[in-house]
Amino acid sequence: MASVTCSFCGRRKNEVELLLSGIDAHICNNCIEQGHQVVLEEFGSKEEKKGRKKLPKLNLIPPVEIKRFLDQYVIGQDEAKRSLSVAVYNHYKRLTQPADADDVMIEKSNIIMAGETGTGKTYLAKTLARILEVPFCVADATTVTEAGYVGEDVETILTRLLQAADFDVEKAERGIVYIDEIDKIARKSDNPSITRDVSGEGVQQALLKLLEGSIVNVPPQGGRKHPDQKMIALNTENILFICGGAFVGIDRHIAKRINTRPIGFSNDSRIIEIFDKENLMRYISAQDLKSFGLIPELIGRLPVLTYLNPLDAQALRQILTEPKNALIKQYKKLFALEGIDIAFEDSVLDYIVEQAVAYKLGARGLRSICESIMTDAMFELPSQSDVKTFTVTLDYAQEKFEKSSLALLKSVA
Ligand code: ADP
Repeated sequence: MASVTCSFCGRRKNEVELLLSGIDAHICNNCIEQGHQVVLEEFGSKEEKKGRKKLPKLNLIPPVEIKRFLDQYVIGQDEAKRSLSVAVYNHYKRLTQPADADDVMIEKSNIIMAGETGTGKTYLAKTLARILEVPFCVADATTVTEAGYVGEDVETILTRLLQAADFDVEKAERGIVYIDEIDKIARKSDNPSITRDVSGEGVQQALLKLLEGSIVNVPPQGGRKHPDQKMIALNTENILFICGGAFVGIDRHIAKRINTRPIGFSNDSRIIEIFDKENLMRYISAQDLKSFGLIPELIGRLPVLTYLNPLDAQALRQILTEPKNALIKQYKKLFALEGIDIAFEDSVLDYIVEQAVAYKLGARGLRSICESIMTDAMFELPSQSDVKTFTVTLDYAQEKFEKSSLALLKSVA
């Protein structure tokens, strides 16, 4: 009987390591490997041609669902949530489009949010990043100065993003960067500067490079760039930038603009009806940002402009109890872990809100006020094994708060 050979290369059985038998043919291990290589090359190139390979796997969630998710954590701020949801959705839809020369190019929708401090700007951006499962970092515009001056280079903003992505460049290139205090780098007057303005207009100019989408050399350790440092090249084209600022005093610019509208227009009864003097921020426009001192090029690269409402007592009360990780829920959980069932009298919640309003601390103040009330209980109760329930009464809250350093601050003021 003739010896068995590979039907593809003709090698005999004793010349190969493995010979597989088919119905009436055989194949050796060398030919299997070669065949596999051909398959990989063929399919690989087809995928690349379709542009499929380059497309990242993204969690594309429709705007309504993004907003619903934000609603679970952030109270109110409906307009900001809607704008953010749409902008983020469009941004990620753009990322999943194959690069096709004939296609309409969808432009990036960087966002700028204006609203008093402590109204949830950072919190909104942070919550967004969580639902999208992309790297996220917060940077402060005030720490950055124009290259060559004391301070950090703008590229260090991206260092933080790289760190958040565990130095996975591809992941970082799809991340979200929140730049806080963007209002603090406004130029000092509406006229182009005559003197050097290294922490204002200079930084705005430097930021342009990041926002518009270019390859930026990022120092992996942050800080100042120096010639010996190894840089990581990062393409910012698909990074979503969200800027936020309190823009204290911008209401003057808004009021001025609204009041100087052509007479015929401002006499329109509908306009007067919607004119809300208490919260002028809701009428903010790109023109006001320019009057405030942002350069037009920067404003142009932040096409989505939205605002956050100041938080009133009712909103603060909701923030205390309603969101998924509301402060009161957090305390309840902390004590439950000790086997203690803790309750708060309604009047205590009102008291906390009153203090937050009095100190003008916004939602950020709620936490410090709660801490000053709860610290003693958190210190003592874990050692008292017989205590199984604990109710925070108004008297208890008042006594603890008035002893705290926060309350002392008030008496000094
Ligand atoms: P800023 O507008 O200054 O960036 P933050 O987003 O840092 O304010 O808000 C500070 C904290 O206050 C947040 O961590 C969050 O716990 C709480 N907070 C602020 N606004 C809201 C809100 N609208 N809903 C729920 N929590 C909020």
